[in-house]
Amino acid sequence: MYKRWHRWSTGLWNGKSFASVPEMAGNNNLFCSTFVHNDQEMYMKISLVDETMVTRNVLDISGQSKLFIWSESSQDWTVIYSQPKDQCDVYAICGPFTICNVNVFPHCTCMEGFIIASPEDWDLEDRTSGCSRNTPLDCISNKSTTQTTDKFYPVPCVKLPQNAQEVEVAASASECEQRATNKFTGKLGEGSFGAVFKGFIDDSIAVAVKRLDGAYQGEKQFRAEVSSIGTIQHINLVKLVGFCCEGSKRLLVYEYMSNSSLDVHLFRINHTPLNWTARYQIAQGVARGLAYLHESCRDCIIHCDIKPENILLDDSFIPKIADFGMAKLLGRGFSRVLTTVRGTVGYLAPEWIAGVAITPKVDVYSYGMVLLEIISGKRNSCTSSSSGGNLDVFFPVHAARKLLEGDAGSLVDHMLHGNVNLDEAELACKVACWCIQDDELDRPTMGQVVQILEGRVEIGMPTIPRLLEAMAGSTHSP
Ligand code: ADP
Ligand code: MG
Repeated sequence: MYKRWHRWSTGLWNGKSFASVPEMAGNNNLFCSTFVHNDQEMYMKISLVDETMVTRNVLDISGQSKLFIWSESSQDWTVIYSQPKDQCDVYAICGPFTICNVNVFPHCTCMEGFIIASPEDWDLEDRTSGCSRNTPLDCISNKSTTQTTDKFYPVPCVKLPQNAQEVEVAASASECEQRATNKFTGKLGEGSFGAVFKGFIDDSIAVAVKRLDGAYQGEKQFRAEVSSIGTIQHINLVKLVGFCCEGSKRLLVYEYMSNSSLDVHLFRINHTPLNWTARYQIAQGVARGLAYLHESCRDCIIHCDIKPENILLDDSFIPKIADFGMAKLLGRGFSRVLTTVRGTVGYLAPEWIAGVAITPKVDVYSYGMVLLEIISGKRNSCTSSSSGGNLDVFFPVHAARKLLEGDAGSLVDHMLHGNVNLDEAELACKVACWCIQDDELDRPTMGQVVQILEGRVEIGMPTIPRLLEAMAGSTHSP
C-alpha cells in the first residue's frame, strides 16, 4: 500500500486567472469566473456563458480533475480542461531535494549529492519522502578530514514549486553585490537608465557595475545589453564579465576602464588634451569596433547611441564601445529594421527623424559626428569663435566647407598647438563628412571607414551635407 495525494496548486490569482491555469483567461467565451475576496469571505464562482451547453466534471481515480463539454457536431465529449496537467504538477509528489521530470520514468530523481531517503517507499512508488544528503558519517564526525563542502551549482530547466520558499543566500545577486561595489558608493557615471559604480571582484579585479533602474525600461535595457554585448568579444568593445537578474534587481558587470569616457578627455576644461596620435588611434579603434558589430557578428548589431559618453578608454587609451542599452539586432537576411527613435540629439541620422526603417548607417552617421568632435575637441553644437571663427555656422557644415577649401588643418583642436599630422587630419575630416551625408547610400560602411583610415583605400572629396546646412540655417544645431 502506498499513500497518494492529488492536490495541486493553482498559483496566485492575477485578477483574471490563476497563474498555473492561464486557460481560464482564454476560456471566457465558455465560462465566466468571479473571484470574491474580502475580509468576510473568499470564494470563486464559475458559470457557463451559454446555459444550454452541457458540461461534465470528473474527478478520476488518480485524482485528476477533467472538464468535458458535449459537442453536438461530433456527438462526443471533448476535454476542455484537466488538472493537474502532468504528474509533476501534483503537489509534493517527489518530496524534498528531488527533481520531477515527466519525460523520464520514474519521474522523481534525487538532486546531485543526495540519495533516496527511504528506498522502501520508492520501491512502492511513493516518493514523497524525497532524498537526503549523501554525507558519509566520518565526514560529520571529523570535520577536519571532510571532503564534502557546501557549494552552489546551477540546475538548468527547472522551476521551483509554487509555494517554494526562496532563501537569499550567497547565490546570484548577493554574490554579485558582495562581486563588488562596496554598497554602491563609488559612482563612475550616470546615463539615462541607471548609474555605474566602481567595484572589485575578489578584492583585486576592478569592475564597473551598472545598476538599471525602473522596472520596465530597466528590463528592456538589460535585455538589449545582455543579448548584444553578452555574446561577443572584440578589443574595441567593452567586455561584459557578468550580470545578475534576481527579482527586480538588474546588474551588469563590465571590465573597469580606468580612463573613463571620451567626453571627459575631449570636452572637460582643465583636462590634459589628448595628443593627435591618441585621437587618430581612438578614431580607428571605434571604427573597428563598429565594423565588427555590423559585419562580423552572427546578427548585425546596430548600436544606436554612438557618442563620446559611450566610448570608454582603458589604461592605454584603447577605445571600447560601451552602453548597448539601445542596441538593435538586425537578423541575417534583413537589411533594415523599423524601431522607435533611440539615440542622442546631435548624433541622430536624418532617417530617425523621417521615421523610416533604419540600417547600420545610423551608427555611421553618429560616428561621423563623433569623429568631428575628436578632431576639434569641441561639441559640434558649440559654435565658438575658436572652432573656426564663424559664429553662425553649425560646426559640421563649417568643417565640410573648410575641407573643400583645403584648410582641414584649421579644424583641429587648438589645444594641440599645431602638433598634428595634417594628412591624417584631412583624411579624418573627409571620412567624417562622408559619414554625415544626408543619404545613407552616400555614407561608407564602417568596414570601409576602417580601410580608409588605415590608408588602404582612397576616397574623394565629400559634398556639403545639405540637410545639415539647411537645418543649421535657422539654428546653430539641428
Ligand atoms: P547609461 O546607459 O546609463 O548611459 P553607460 O554604460 O553609458 O550607462 O555608463 C554611464 C557612464 O558610466 C559612462 O559614460 C562612463 O563615464 C561610466 N562607465 C560606464 N561603464 C564604465 C566602465 N566599464 N568603466 C569605467 N567607467 C564606466
Ligand atoms: Mg551611456
